[in-house]
Formats: sequence, C-alpha cells, structure tokens
Amino acid sequence: MNLEELCQKIDEYYRGLSAEFGAAQKATGLNCPPDCGKCCTVPTVEASAMEMLPMALELWKQGRAETILDEIANRDHSTCVMFAGRCTMYQQRPSVCRMFGVGLRVRKDDELELSICRELRLIYSEKAEAIDKKLIPNMSEWSFQAMSIDPQFLRERRPISMALSDALEKVLFYKTLSQS
Ligand code: SF4
Ligand code: SF4
Repeated sequence: MNLEELCQKIDEYYRGLSAEFGAAQKATGLNCPPDCGKCCTVPTVEASAMEMLPMALELWKQGRAETILDEIANRDHSTCVMFAGRCTMYQQRPSVCRMFGVGLRVRKDDELELSICRELRLIYSEKAEAIDKKLIPNMSEWSFQAMSIDPQFLRERRPISMALSDALEKVLFYKTLSQS
C-alpha cells in the first residue's frame, strides 16, 4: 500500500468514526460550544505519527509541509500547531480529536465507563448524569478497528504537534524518494 492509499484508508476510518461520535453527541445533546477548542490547548492530547499522515499529506499538497515543520520546531507544544481559535485542519484531524467529547472506555475490570470531557461535564452536568450509555460509542472498539488498518496505528503516541512533525518528515521523505 502506498502513502496515498494508506491515507485514503485512514480517511475512510475517520469518516466512520466522526459519523458515529457526531451522532452520539447529537442524540445526547452534549454538543461542544462552537467557540470552545479547549482540548486543542492542552499538552496532554497525544496522537501517533500514523494518525497524522492524512493531515501531513494534505499540508504537503498545499505546499506548507516545511513551514509547519519549522513552526513546530520553534514553539512549545502545549497548544496544537493547527489551532488558531479553531481547528484549521478539521477534515484531517486525528482520531483523538474525533472521540474526545463523549465516549465509552473499558476499565481495568472490563466494565464500560463513560468518558466525558471536563467542559461538557461542566456545561451539561444534569444531562451528563442521566446519559444512556447505549447511545455512546465504545472508544476501545474503534481503537481496535484502527489496528486493522495497521497494527502500528496507535503506537508511540506523542503530543499532537510532535506527532504531526514526525508525519511531515515521513511524507517529505516519501515524496523525495518517489520523485527521484
Ligand atoms: S488537530 Fe485540530 S482538533 Fe485536533 S488538537 Fe489540533 S487543532 Fe484541535
Ligand atoms: S470536546 Fe470538550 S474541550 Fe473539546 S471542544 Fe468539545 S467541549 Fe470543548
């Protein structure tokens, strides 16, 4: 599978993921405020380089790969490099950004527990308490599906801008090889 084919597969996976998690947010009414973006400004949001490949490829197509690499090298990583009051690469955002608001995760004792972002919990405290878990997608199942694209898909996660930097390096390397 070449880089374009891999990115296409990842993109299909992302579209399915967004459809399910978006539908759950709609069904529960736990919608993100339009101007929030707080999850883009914390250093704990991590992704793997492979998750960031579609974004890196799109940045390369736009002729911005080197500029963004330089920007990442010269800033701290507490805020995602793609955040400018909103996500500037929304169509290519990785799985963590698509699942962050509301999801189910498997606890160590194999029970499912609800994961809701702090902001949503604060805004919708009553709704969050009464939520029907059957409406909420299982993040672990989606992560498992991601491994069918490639077993390395979620490995070696790093702060999101660092992961994008790794993905940009890979895209530039691949493109240099394929054009030589
Ligand atoms: S990729 Fe977009 S949604 Fe994800 S952290 Fe960065 S700015 Fe936010
Ligand atoms: S997931 Fe939470 S922090 Fe992120 S935009 Fe939505 S409400 Fe804000």
